[in-house]
This record gives sequence, C-alpha cells and structure tokens, in this order.
Amino acid sequence: MGRTARAAVLGAYGEPLEIRDVEVGDLRDDEVLVRIAGVGICHTDLTAAAGGVPVPVPAVLGHEGSGVVEAVGSAVDALVPGDHVLLSYSACRDCINCANGHPAYCTRFALRNYSGRRADGSTTLSMNSVALHGNWFGQSSFATHAVVAASDAVQVAGDLPIELLGPLGCGIQTGAGAVLRVLRPRTGSSIVVFGGGAVGLAAVLAAVIAECSTIVVVDPLPTRRELALTLGATAVFDSAEPDLAKKLRAATGGGADHSVDAVSTPEVLATAVAVLRSPGSCVTVGLRGGRNPVTLDQSALLMGRSVTGVIEGDADPQQFLPELIALWRAGKFPFDKLITTFDFDDLPAALEATRSGAAVKPVLTFASSEGQA
Ligand SMILES: [Zn+2]
Ligand SMILES: [Zn+2]
Repeated sequence: MGRTARAAVLGAYGEPLEIRDVEVGDLRDDEVLVRIAGVGICHTDLTAAAGGVPVPVPAVLGHEGSGVVEAVGSAVDALVPGDHVLLSYSACRDCINCANGHPAYCTRFALRNYSGRRADGSTTLSMNSVALHGNWFGQSSFATHAVVAASDAVQVAGDLPIELLGPLGCGIQTGAGAVLRVLRPRTGSSIVVFGGGAVGLAAVLAAVIAECSTIVVVDPLPTRRELALTLGATAVFDSAEPDLAKKLRAATGGGADHSVDAVSTPEVLATAVAVLRSPGSCVTVGLRGGRNPVTLDQSALLMGRSVTGVIEGDADPQQFLPELIALWRAGKFPFDKLITTFDFDDLPAALEATRSGAAVKPVLTFASSEGQA
C-alpha cells in the first residue's frame, strides 16, 4: 500500500522519543488501519521507554489510542472504513483464559502486547525500510496511524468525542475494572485508594458507581487530593502523613472493606493490606517493571484478608468499555475530568507532565487532516 505515518520512535531505552516519518506495511486479513484521533499517555509507556518492559527497540509506544478506521483487511466484516473505534490491549480470543472470559490474562498476552511483532514475526511498521517494532499493546498508537487486529478495536458511536476516549482502553479500565470487576464492593462499604493518578481516580469514580459510602484517597500531591474530593472521595490523606495506616483504619471505622494499590511499591502494598478490616480485600495494579518482592504479614492474611494482582481491570474491553461509555453518557462516570490534551507535536511536554504528575491523564491529539495516507 505504501502508506506512511508520523510516529514517536523510541530508538534506545532511556532516550527521548523522536517524531519521525515511518512506513506502514500491508494489512493482514484480520487487521484494520486506524487513523489516530487521540492517544493517552500511560505510566507503562514511560516504564517501557526506560527499559522496564522487554519491548525490543526501535519501537513505537502508545497504547491508549482511539480514532477512525481507514482501511480493513479482507477477512474483517465487523468494521468498515469510517467507523470510530477505541483500542485496547490485545488478546487472542482463543486460549483457555480468553475462552473463560479473562482476556487480560490471555496466555499469549506477552507475545501480543510486548513483543513488538505479530505472531508470525513480522512488524507492522518500518523506518527507512528497517523493521520498526509496532504492536505495542496491539496498537503502537503514538502515531498518526496504527495497524490493529480488528478484534482488539471496540466500535463506538460516531457522536462521541473520539479523541478523548483512548484512556478508557487502559488506565481508566484498569482502575474501574479493579473495583467493578474484581473487588465488587457492596453498597455502603468502605474503600481506600492509594495513588491519585488516572488509575486511582478511575477507581474512585467506580467506587462512587458501586455506592461505597467511604472513599479515601492517599496521594502526595495536594492538587490530586483536591481533584479526588471533587470526584467523590469522602476523605483524602497525604501519603507522608505519620502513622498513616492507623489513621486510615480510623477514617474507615476500624478498617476498610477494600483497598486499591495503584502505586505498588512494597511499602504501599503493605499499608494497603494493613488498612483492611477482617475480612477485606486488596487489589494491586501498578506495574513497576521487573521483579518486585514484597513482605506481608501472613497472620493478617489468615483473618480473611486477600490480595489479588490485577491487570487491565480483568475486564473484557468489548463488554466493559461500552458499559463505561454508557455511564459517561449518563453523567455517572466523568473520566474526561482527568484529561489534559496536548498536540502530538508537544509530546515532550506531555511526557514531562506525566512524569511530574502535573497532568493526571495527558492525551495527545492530532489535527484531523494530519497524516492522511
Ligand atoms: Zn488468549
Ligand atoms: Zn497502560
């Protein structure tokens, strides 16, 4: 097809991303070409750029894309050019975990999301005719165009603000799914959320939907604590507060029914378990990169407390993302309040705002005429 795109290329771990002209290869039968309208920046992109995830370089990162279908492979019948789509992680839809309704735990997850290649070893992108690793989370959407398996694209209505939807596909799904799909709080229960970034604040929005009566957020940044209160948190704490676990237990009437660890250092996970009542459940969702050993008090776990590691909210994007969009339309899930938009060419500023926490969820947007193939 000889298509070209502009993409942010990671040449080597630890180096800045550079926006370059790249070549987009021919679509496979089951793939679609998506013109990206917007793409969120997730901390996992930063972790990968620093070398914390074994994605081979050179590579194109970006995994919270949304946009418009421009072309479809010969076997694709669910999507046609012009359809609006929200992209999420890639799952094979064929293995035992996919068949059992847990595509986030697809047995081919690493191959499909981190290897930078299709299953047949080919790459979706090249630069100066040299292979460029795409397929990051099945999309590599820090680019004007992305090649995506049709089964990883969720079709959405054309009247939605398509450029803002991308974060639903990873960060928002992660926080909301951890609460609504895994913890499943009862009405009136209590929850403590560690980390007031996009994942933690999505967990807060979900806790409001679940009608938790006590929603406590712990974060070092005053701006995020203030934002958490506007989104439905009932109390907030600075993570540097002395005797934090004791104060959180007091704030939840003697211990929380649930906790969400979106920070995932050993210290924060231990605190997230220590604040639980008995019985109580904690989910830990942060990706630190590499091994991350923690020490927990096993005798506390014996008293009916549990810790579950969760990625992507254990949610099936094809089911869960339309549910979140319906809640947003009903005014019950204002995830857009977490978003700050940046032009794609302002990528360095957007990355810095992600690192510093100045922006909760930066979204890169593209001029609609850009990169028309
Ligand atoms: Zn699978
Ligand atoms: Zn992510």
